[in-house]
Amino acid sequence: AYPMPCPPDSRQLGRHTWTFLHTMAAYYPDSPTESEQKNASTFMKSFSKLYPCSYCADHLQKEIKKNPPKVSSSKEFSLWMCNVHNEVNERLGKPQFDCAKVFERWRDGCAE
Ligand code: FAD
Repeated sequence: AYPMPCPPDSRQLGRHTWTFLHTMAAYYPDSPTESEQKNASTFMKSFSKLYPCSYCADHLQKEIKKNPPKVSSSKEFSLWMCNVHNEVNERLGKPQFDCAKVFERWRDGCAE
């Protein structure tokens, strides 16, 4: 039987969620169709309303209003996500991540 771990707190949830969000952006198409762009943008807006950490979701909704998702390519979407994450980092007193390294961190690094 599986051991029964504790439910995630907001830090653990955040770490896992950033893994998903940055990976999604890194594997987003280079030349997305209109429909793919609409899906990405709608996804982020719905996500910001459903994210199960209420104060995180509130901040994210405000951030998305100021700085709407940029979804015209994988690079744009990845840089946008990196900037959104850096805004959270700044608010939490964490170091800024160098957004020139998003693809290395989330897609291309550590190749065999
Ligand atoms: P994380 O910030 O979780 O980062 C994980 C890894 O991502 C890092 O080790 C690094 O390799 C990489 N990384 C770091 N910055 C970037 C970047 N800019 N671009 C690409 N990769 C990067 N917590 C709160 O207390 N208050 C909040 O309001 C809040 N809002 C959140 C909103 C969202 C949408 C999410 C997903 C999380 C939020 N969190 C919030 C959680 C918080 O961001 C962290 O996930 C949590 O504190 C754990 O931090 P960590 O030090 O493990 O690294």
